[in-house]
Amino acid sequence: MLTTLKRIVQEMSQIPALEQALFRVASRVKQVMQVDSCSIYLADYEHQEFILKATDGLHPGAVDQVRIGFSEGLIGLVGQREEPLNIQNAHEHPRFKHYPEVHEENYKAFLGTPIIHQRNVLGVITMQQAKMRFFSEDEEAFLVTLAAQLALEITNAEIRGALSNNDIVPSGVRQKKVMGIAGSPGLAIGHGFSTDSTVDLRRLVVKRADDLQREVQIYRKAVEITRKQVDELSGSLEESIPEDVKAIFQLYHHLLDANSLGREVEAKIQEKWCAGSSLKMVVEDYAARFANMDDPYMQERAIDIIDLSNRILVNILQLTRGEDHALPNATRDSILVAEEVSATMLAEFPREYLKGIISIRGSNNSHAAILARAMGVPAVMGCQNVSPSLLENKEILLDGYSGEVLISPDKSIRQSFAQLIEEEDLLSERIDAEADKACETQDGCRMSLLINAGLSVEIETVARSQGNGIGLYRTEIPFMLRESFPSEKEQIKLYSEVLHCVPEQQVTMRTLDVGGDKPLPYFPINEENPFLGWRGVRLTLDHPEIFLVQIRAMLKASLGLKNLQIMLPMISSVNEVQEATRLIDQAFFEVREEANETGQLLVKPKIGVMLEVPSVLYQLPQLAKHVDFFSVGSNDLTQYLLAVDRNNTRVAGLYNSYHPAVLSALYDIVRQADANNIPVTVCGEIAGEPGGAILLMGMGYRRLSMNAHNLRKINWVVRNVNLQESKNLLSCALTAHTHQDVYAHINDYLEQKGLGGLIRAGS
Ligand code: PEP
Ligand code: MG
Repeated sequence: MLTTLKRIVQEMSQIPALEQALFRVASRVKQVMQVDSCSIYLADYEHQEFILKATDGLHPGAVDQVRIGFSEGLIGLVGQREEPLNIQNAHEHPRFKHYPEVHEENYKAFLGTPIIHQRNVLGVITMQQAKMRFFSEDEEAFLVTLAAQLALEITNAEIRGALSNNDIVPSGVRQKKVMGIAGSPGLAIGHGFSTDSTVDLRRLVVKRADDLQREVQIYRKAVEITRKQVDELSGSLEESIPEDVKAIFQLYHHLLDANSLGREVEAKIQEKWCAGSSLKMVVEDYAARFANMDDPYMQERAIDIIDLSNRILVNILQLTRGEDHALPNATRDSILVAEEVSATMLAEFPREYLKGIISIRGSNNSHAAILARAMGVPAVMGCQNVSPSLLENKEILLDGYSGEVLISPDKSIRQSFAQLIEEEDLLSERIDAEADKACETQDGCRMSLLINAGLSVEIETVARSQGNGIGLYRTEIPFMLRESFPSEKEQIKLYSEVLHCVPEQQVTMRTLDVGGDKPLPYFPINEENPFLGWRGVRLTLDHPEIFLVQIRAMLKASLGLKNLQIMLPMISSVNEVQEATRLIDQAFFEVREEANETGQLLVKPKIGVMLEVPSVLYQLPQLAKHVDFFSVGSNDLTQYLLAVDRNNTRVAGLYNSYHPAVLSALYDIVRQADANNIPVTVCGEIAGEPGGAILLMGMGYRRLSMNAHNLRKINWVVRNVNLQESKNLLSCALTAHTHQDVYAHINDYLEQKGLGGLIRAGS
């Protein structure tokens, strides 16, 4: 049965036109299940009707003619009940409605199953038989399983259909929405611009060569030109990207080195392959090895290698055939769409036209997303239901806050979207103009806003001007962008730059928080359940040599300064804190000896823990006895409290930091921290969102740490609200039943305060 089912679905997916594909399914089902009829109806939400789209058994002339209201007949009933309906004699059922066009007078037995995708009824599939009988459990199970798979195929075909302006789309609406992962915040309007139609190594047909010396020369020359181009690209990005992200270009340089790719490609040429073919063979082998690794970071490296090789190939082709393969240039507001958006694609795209980014693959962890955030360009990643060529030249609305992409939008939606962008721009101007004002509510409550950092540029540009310090320095980011663990010396240099950047303000450095969704390329961890596995402090405590080097580097970097604080991630029990503080003490005494010898000042840093694993909520008084401060990692706390993977698009709708349970946990933490006299900060995303910041303030938090982009906005929000009102809002939120209710309260409040323009941006 399973094989039959798989075959039917496979056959369907190979037929591009949905209508034909549905016909094939209907006739195959009729045949394999030995029934007298199989029919498929699709929902038309605009007219609230099911339309007969394919049948083998009913009258063929009824296709597209028979329309059954959502609340009519047996088909309507299946849709309403959202479950199968198995009837011995349909004609006797009270909901039976006769449609003369279908000629079903002879069919008694009826089995109908809804076709549902992500809670939406897309249609109904039926089997009918002349004989009066109930369909068996097996037959019912078959149809239910088939309907679930059909739902996916219909959704995909629906998108394809809409994008190719094919009118068979059930809803009859051309505009199409697809969901991806929010990669970089912001809204954008532009036309799809795909760079994937240019030279592609993967499509190159391999060829033999005779003049091997010439091929080697061509290859070397092509590499030389590519090296220059890469240099120019990284140069052109100089101002917009942080130092650490430039590591991507360092990787390119490494690959371009004669001892790296070059040696293998030249060896292939000696086997009598032309330069381009040799490159293809070597690179595809590399890329396949990277792409097959479980580790998402390593998979990302495959993208970099292919991207770089395509560049070399363009130059090889030009040198060989004198062909011009220059990239097409964007000349209007564009949304860059590619299977895998690479750093160089971003670099060479004219900045004035780059309004947004859609990457078919990738997550909010990929370099493209990191870069997009650093460049302030809205991005949606992992948009798997579309292909770049289908989006080419289509008008696109992109919502980098939610990961939503609207293709060929209706005029009215486009207008409201454009208005939202305009409002956002206006608002940012106003916000920027008042960025230097003290962060105090209208009734005098002072808030400290700190920065979450990890990409050096943020620190330099914002920390100096704003002056509250760094609430979270994610040390793993520089680790992730390297080829091996940085040495103690390299780490000292890195940390020292950060500490000296804001010498008068506290800098909270978090010890390495890798594992989960943050793998290190050179330290692969293969686990079934990485978020519940070897993450954060669990990993570093098992590798004291890594931990001690990092702590020593932090301490040495702090010589002569007083602003270092050390924070431990993923703490789930007091033992881990004891063990970590023992190691920190050990490193401290070592470094102090050295400092004494050279007469340098070494101040013992305050030690704190991240509160992000739910168990610690029940041990706050005990933890408070071992550390100097707490910092709430609301991103992970939400993930662990709600048991929702924060990177999984399927359950993305369930991940929400405004879930009343998460809010209650946050409230509980601040009350307990106050009772135990221990300072507490929130450094998860919620702290940088308007509604979140107001609620946290109402709870009693006075220190919020957020990404540099949000700092000015939150400053502005705080100055425009008052503490008492935030407490009232909090009471409503805490007693709300769902996060949607919480949103409604927040939105009402923001509207009432004239801050409605901020609703989209994060609350
Ligand atoms: C958090 O979990 O809220 C947090 C700030 O840490 P990260 O997002 O780096 O896991
Ligand atoms: Mg965390």
